[in-house]
Amino acid sequence: MYKLTWPEIESYLKNCDIVIFPVGSNEQHGKHIAEDNDAFTSLQIAKKVAERTGVLVAPALPFGYSSHHMKFPGTISLSFDTLVNVYKEVCKCLLHHGFKKIVIFNGHGGNTNAITQAQREIREETGCIIYSIMVFPTEKGFGSGSLKILKQEGGGGHACEMETSVGLCLGQRILLDKAEK
Ligand SMILES: [Zn+2]
Repeated sequence: MYKLTWPEIESYLKNCDIVIFPVGSNEQHGKHIAEDNDAFTSLQIAKKVAERTGVLVAPALPFGYSSHHMKFPGTISLSFDTLVNVYKEVCKCLLHHGFKKIVIFNGHGGNTNAITQAQREIREETGCIIYSIMVFPTEKGFGSGSLKILKQEGGGGHACEMETSVGLCLGQRILLDKAEK
C-alpha cells in the first residue's frame, strides 16, 4: 500500500476491503539480531501473504511497547496509552477509507495488551472488529508443536533459536558469531 498511489488504492478498494497492518518494536535482540527484528518480521511475513493473496499491506509500525528493554542502547519504546492510540488512529484511518477487514500482524509479544485494548475500544466506538495474529509461533496458535519441542530442549524466549531461525529465513541482519549459547 505504501508504494501505491491513491488512485491505485481506490481501485483496489472497489474489489477488496482487506488490509494487513504489520506492527513490531525497535528493541535489543541480544548481541546478534538487529533491533528492528519484530517490525521486520511482521512486515516480511505480511509481504509473503500479500504475494500469495494480492491483499494490501499498510506501512509497518516500527515502534512498540518495550520499556523492559530500555537499559539497552537503541531501544525506542512508546508508552502503553500512546501505543493504544496509535493503533486506534491508524485503524480508524483505514476504516475511514473503506477497509473493513483490518488484520494486525504482530511481531512482538509486548504489544499484545495494547492491541487488545485498541481492538476493544474501536469495537465500542465504531462497532468494527479488528483482527490480530501473532506472526511468531505461540502455545495456542500456529507452530505450537515446534514451540513445544523447542521448550523441551531448553530453548525459546526472546532473541532465541526461534527468532534467529525466522530471521535467517527472512534475510534479517544476524551476527551468528555473536549469538550466545
Ligand atoms: Zn523479537
